[in-house]
Amino acid sequence: MGKAKKVMVIGLDCIISPLVYKYAQEGYMPKVKQLLDNGVYGENCLPNFPTITPPNWATLATGATNITHELSCFNYHVPGTELDDIRQGFSSEAVHAEFIWEAAEKEGKKAIVVNYPTSWPPRMKEGITVAGAGLGPNEWRTPEVKQGEEGFLTTLAYDQLWTTEIKVLGSDVDLQPAKKWENAPAAKKMLETELQLEYRRQRDKLKDKSWYALLLDSESKGFDRVIISETKDAAQALADMKVGEWTDNVFAEFTLQTGEKKKAAFRMKVLELSPDGETFTLYRTPLCALEGFYFPAELAQEVPLKGLPMPYPGYMGFRMRWFDVKTLGEISDMCEEYLAETAHYLLTHKDWNIYYMHIHTPDWNHHVFLDSADPAVGQDIGQEEIDLYLWAERRSYEHLDKVIDRITSAADPDETVFLLTSDHGAKPTGYKFYVGDILKDAGLVEFKKVAEEEEFSGTFAWERTEAKATGMLEGKFKEFGDLDWSKTKAIPQRSCHIYINLKGRDPRGCVEPEDYEKVQTRIIQALYNYTDPESGLKPIAWAFTKKDARNIYMGGEYCGDVVYAAAEDFMGPHGGVIPTAQMGKIGDVRSLFILSGPGVKQGEVIKRTIWLHDVVPTLCYLADLPVPAQCEGAIVYQALEDPDLKKHECESIQRRYEKMRKSLDRAPMC
Ligand SMILES: [Zn+2]
Repeated sequence: MGKAKKVMVIGLDCIISPLVYKYAQEGYMPKVKQLLDNGVYGENCLPNFPTITPPNWATLATGATNITHELSCFNYHVPGTELDDIRQGFSSEAVHAEFIWEAAEKEGKKAIVVNYPTSWPPRMKEGITVAGAGLGPNEWRTPEVKQGEEGFLTTLAYDQLWTTEIKVLGSDVDLQPAKKWENAPAAKKMLETELQLEYRRQRDKLKDKSWYALLLDSESKGFDRVIISETKDAAQALADMKVGEWTDNVFAEFTLQTGEKKKAAFRMKVLELSPDGETFTLYRTPLCALEGFYFPAELAQEVPLKGLPMPYPGYMGFRMRWFDVKTLGEISDMCEEYLAETAHYLLTHKDWNIYYMHIHTPDWNHHVFLDSADPAVGQDIGQEEIDLYLWAERRSYEHLDKVIDRITSAADPDETVFLLTSDHGAKPTGYKFYVGDILKDAGLVEFKKVAEEEEFSGTFAWERTEAKATGMLEGKFKEFGDLDWSKTKAIPQRSCHIYINLKGRDPRGCVEPEDYEKVQTRIIQALYNYTDPESGLKPIAWAFTKKDARNIYMGGEYCGDVVYAAAEDFMGPHGGVIPTAQMGKIGDVRSLFILSGPGVKQGEVIKRTIWLHDVVPTLCYLADLPVPAQCEGAIVYQALEDPDLKKHECESIQRRYEKMRKSLDRAPMC
């Protein structure tokens, strides 16, 4: 094997590392097995805290820790703004450290970055960037999108379900005898309905539009076929489907309220159509814009479209029981196919030294069904359901193996170092506790209007706001009445931060600067004193002041005044829970680290702790890439075939130099 000239990083968000290793050994992930045989597996690769998406991908691409790149959680808060003003941390501008691809570009090296959180807007001048402003293409979690109502926006619109049944957020349809259709195929019976398009979570406002569905009893055996058209002309059909079948990619043009036209791709599936025509349910994937997320922009016309560049593929629909886990898997596959094929095209048609990508499907899966595959606290699920979701889990890993195979096949293994990694793993949901309640009971949070006693009895409000994940403050305070900022000394914010409402810094600050440390102590004491009444366990694994948070690579201007972490029996699947958390039969929050290629040992399992900030220096060392300016990690020497590689290279150069010098000394002077 030669010397590494290129690095390829494939990031699998929230993948459960020991499960990848197990499936590889059992033959379900043959490509991963090959990479393991030719490389090393880091058994104790720890995600940095908090065990959450944007900051850890930022670390994996900068080599800088949280305190240094300053993206301290899923969302970020700009000091001095209202304490409930938080924005999702996906913008490249929220990362205050140099990316590996920026440092490389200064030396004329080229990078391709695909769907990588925090990579958009692109900070490279020459390289290629595809998406990265959200968890998937066409998803916008950018600073202008305020948390609360929507959280993120999509281009052009989110997915939709039309149904004769009662479904959460389903669009009602009423079937009528078909009238005035042109070019309708012969059928014993025909029904029709109008399909009004709903544009949820749209970034660009679209004009109202309807399609028409023609339902056919095409073989005189009952209704079995559906035609979708923009007009009542079957010859102009967008789609022609049997029950249970997906369309291929469908393309249609939409008009923005500004008058501008936008083309989008999507697919549809008839989920239900009863033979008597009584029941009909049609699902449409998000309307996926075909441009706007490529840099350079002309790539939109060049890269062949395979699969769908989908935002949040199907997971909300699955949660609302629009369809089963099998259909969810099919939608995830379309999303992965787009990423794999786009990557393959770019890697085989463009120059590159560095390839970085992120695939989010494992994270979405774990958020929606890990508790069913690996029931832990308070889950009473039958074995049949557990088996179904364990199957869905394994099937998704098997598909990812095919994706990895497709992408890695575009690189020369003799000159490429491959890394499979993750920002964190996942565990099932444990016992719950609400930091807001702990602070309220400690007299640190006060409300203007005290609600009725029964409203205070439960933790519903915190639960509701936690479910919103980001608008943690607002929902709670609406339940309990307005927060009395003049008496509120501290509030929880994001997944692991607590802010002191500090005079001189915060707009409605009430804590005098001289009392700052006293309040910090009160918060930490309240956290540690709390015992979960359900389990009798202490939920707080650690609580640090901002100064002491440096012990866990946190702190600095963008960090809360207190940082706390949940012990492994609590919360889930990741985020505010400690990096070493394990739970249930498969739950494990540790990160994935499979390194393979020139210069790397073969077939070894490394036991030592590897931190995510060790990735960049290790890759730079192996492929002679410049180290980004704020990189803090260390080379994982134990993964290297020759840990003294550079020393030996220097000695070899020295020997050659000495030989040359001696031969020059012997040469006659002219
Ligand atoms: Zn993640």
